Amino acid sequence: SKDDGGGAAHSYDPQLHVQAEERRVLEIALRSALENNQLHLNYQPVVSAQNGGLAGFEALLRWNHPEFGNISPAKFIPLAEDARLIAPIGEWVLRTACHEAAKWDSGARVAVNVSTEQLHSPNFVELVTQTLAQSGLPAERLELEVTESVFLREGTGAVKMLERLLALGIKLSLDDFGTGYSSLGYLSRTRFSTIKIDRSFVQGASQGKREAVAIIRAVVALADSLGMSTTAEGVETEEEYHMVYRLGCTKVQGYYFGRPLPVEETRELVARASAA
Ligand code: C2E
Ligand code: CA
Ligand code: CA
Ligand code: CA
Repeated sequence: SKDDGGGAAHSYDPQLHVQAEERRVLEIALRSALENNQLHLNYQPVVSAQNGGLAGFEALLRWNHPEFGNISPAKFIPLAEDARLIAPIGEWVLRTACHEAAKWDSGARVAVNVSTEQLHSPNFVELVTQTLAQSGLPAERLELEVTESVFLREGTGAVKMLERLLALGIKLSLDDFGTGYSSLGYLSRTRFSTIKIDRSFVQGASQGKREAVAIIRAVVALADSLGMSTTAEGVETEEEYHMVYRLGCTKVQGYYFGRPLPVEETRELVARASAA
């Protein structure tokens, strides 16, 4: 529409245009990324806050485009969701991560991020069941990371669907807790193993922000009382580690303990950890 009737015609916004054009180009590229082997997974260690022991890895998606280079998942995951590409991409992530983790000669868990779009697709529980069977990964070694937005859609039966997943014997964790829609009611209705505390709180607390400290304390207390553990995300320094440890977080993840690693280095780390 040229005119809203308010008198002023819409002005052309070159910034918006560039964004739309970039999105269109990326979307076309993303469609072929899977077929052209441009996607791969990195694995970031998650360790026990108390003794640094390896608890598992979080699988993180990487897109290496021959022309555009590395594109951040924070940029292309939302695009994949809009373009209805998240189901095939998410399926590839799940299969790849489970097949890889099944080779690890250790009890290390693999955590896979699942977008809310993907979780609500009708065959998701079947896909997980099938992937566990095909990969041979014991269910208790698979953890799915979901965000609070899974509870946002009314009438989708999110709680029931999560129960069906739990019945397979897998673990669920609640990612980026506190950054989105807060759903304390749902938290008590779903057996999450772990609540992941977003890096923004870890960073805030280490900068001396009282609200951030208060939030971490409250989340740890809540998790404790519900029998869940907590993972502090994005721990970059020794100071941050000591702080989240003092605040009672059970597990830690971040550059201080290890960057996301390519698959071969992950295998080496697993082998070293199980030999230790
Ligand atoms: P997330 O699930 O919160 O993942 C943690 C992000 O923090 C990752 O960014 C990780 O590389 C980064 N990180 C880890 N330690 C540190 C640290 O010490 N400092 C800082 N500054 N950052 C740290 P990444 O890999 O760029 O992923 C961004 C987001 O993209 C993820 O956030 C997740 O929401 C999404 N994502 C990644 N892989 C997948 C996937 O396979 N499926 C879906 N649906 N989403 C994914
Ligand atoms: Ca995550
Ligand atoms: Ca997170
Ligand atoms: Ca985050």
